[in-house]
Amino acid sequence: MKRIGVNGGSSVQIFMEECPGCALEVRRTESVCPYCAYEFPTQPASRIWMAWVMAALLAWPVFELIGLLFD
Ligand SMILES: [Zn+2]
Repeated sequence: MKRIGVNGGSSVQIFMEECPGCALEVRRTESVCPYCAYEFPTQPASRIWMAWVMAALLAWPVFELIGLLFD
């Protein structure tokens, strides 16, 4: 089996983001733009924690229901 790289580059696009500083495609993993040194704003850890807490609170009734069904 031989696979020819059709649409090979399309998946890379997911990890690319347009830099607001120079409008060039920059990898999302980069914290600073390699072209214009624009610093991408990083999400504060507290916001991520809040998101997890909210998700847990929303999911709690579902877990309770599953617990009742399997008890
Ligand atoms: Zn840039």
